[in-house]
Amino acid sequence: MREIGSRLLIKQGDTAQELAKIIDGESTIPVFANAGYSRHSKFVESQVARHTQLRLFSGQVTIDPSGVSKENGEPFKVYSAFRRKWEQVYQKKIFRTDYQSLGIKPEIMSSCDLHSGKNSLARSSTRANAVRTLRKFTGLKGGINRYSELSDRVDQNTTSGMSEFISLGLIGPNELFEVADYLRYSSDDNRYLGSVNSWRNQLIWREFFKHSLDHFPDSENQSLNPNLESIDWINQKVDIDAWNDGETGYPIVDAAMRQLSEDGWIHNRLRMIVASFLVKDLLVDWRIGANWFHDKLVDYDSALNSGNWQWVAGTGFDASPFFRVFNPVLQGRKFDPKG
Ligand SMILES: Cc1cc2nc3c(=O)[nH]c(=O)nc-3n(C[C@H](O)[C@H](O)[C@H](O)COP(=O)(O)OP(=O)(O)OC[C@H]3O[C@@H](n4cnc5c(N)ncnc54)[C@H](O)[C@@H]3O)c2cc1C
Repeated sequence: MREIGSRLLIKQGDTAQELAKIIDGESTIPVFANAGYSRHSKFVESQVARHTQLRLFSGQVTIDPSGVSKENGEPFKVYSAFRRKWEQVYQKKIFRTDYQSLGIKPEIMSSCDLHSGKNSLARSSTRANAVRTLRKFTGLKGGINRYSELSDRVDQNTTSGMSEFISLGLIGPNELFEVADYLRYSSDDNRYLGSVNSWRNQLIWREFFKHSLDHFPDSENQSLNPNLESIDWINQKVDIDAWNDGETGYPIVDAAMRQLSEDGWIHNRLRMIVASFLVKDLLVDWRIGANWFHDKLVDYDSALNSGNWQWVAGTGFDASPFFRVFNPVLQGRKFDPKG
């Protein structure tokens, strides 16, 4: 950054206060940022806007939440309908970041090195690693080739590993959709196309949950289905402790919870299994589980976390039915057959 006449400051503390110190009364200084969608992000943005000329962009998503709505202007509550509309809007979008006109050399970004620091085993979160991981996933022998058949298998390395990089902003959703599109047009093998599309659909789930949180900011802490807001959870401390520590006695639940504490990342199927176990077997409020994930995940994202917890708990709009309970033994046999 010094080479291009700039510099990087890393500050810790209250965002608005730290920025105010840097700006030092110069309220005409423009501040550029990507909008966040949680209540907290919106609060921080409103604080920052009081002291600066805040200019927000929607780089956390491919299409801004205001750009995907029903004919009557209401937000979508069901994923499949959202996805159809999202695709229509997406087809009209023009991509390709013109790095040259911005005066930015992409490789400069590679030198940025941020460690999330939550876990001893947290992978090194750099732009270079994000690109390397994506290249490996999309390469000839990469997970994308078997994604539609094997992405639910927790013992196979078939998912992209992108979540940590996305949530830290080291790689953006636009870039990932561009890559997915490129892969779609580079092959006419149906099996391969099916895999690329399945992976791309997961990225659209991400957009769906981001948009949902923007439209329903209370959903981070409140059940979207009001009928299920007042469930009489048991919330036994001994059960919660066993779940946290990976000592429930159910091998796949315990392995997943221990991996979560060690690595700060677990496979999506494992997240579903442990969430279902907490909510539907131990009858513990989904918010307690969501908070534990908040403290542990290196890819933590409030929209994806609360959206998925509500999906598993059955309290969301487009959720797994509340009477569907994952059997942790059968799930283990199916998705981790060799234990
Ligand atoms: C209870 C629960 C909590 C979760 N909390 C988070 C969280 O805090 N942060 C987070 O990034 N993901 C969360 N997820 C979603 C998902 O588990 C992770 O995004 C995924 O495991 C990341 O691995 P990957 O990048 O290899 O995924 P891939 O399978 O390669 O998917 C590519 C990308 O698509 C998106 N994606 C994948 N699955 C989902 C999904 N179910 N919902 C929304 N977007 C998805 C992610 O951005 C992911 O990086 C949660 C899922 C559950 C069931």
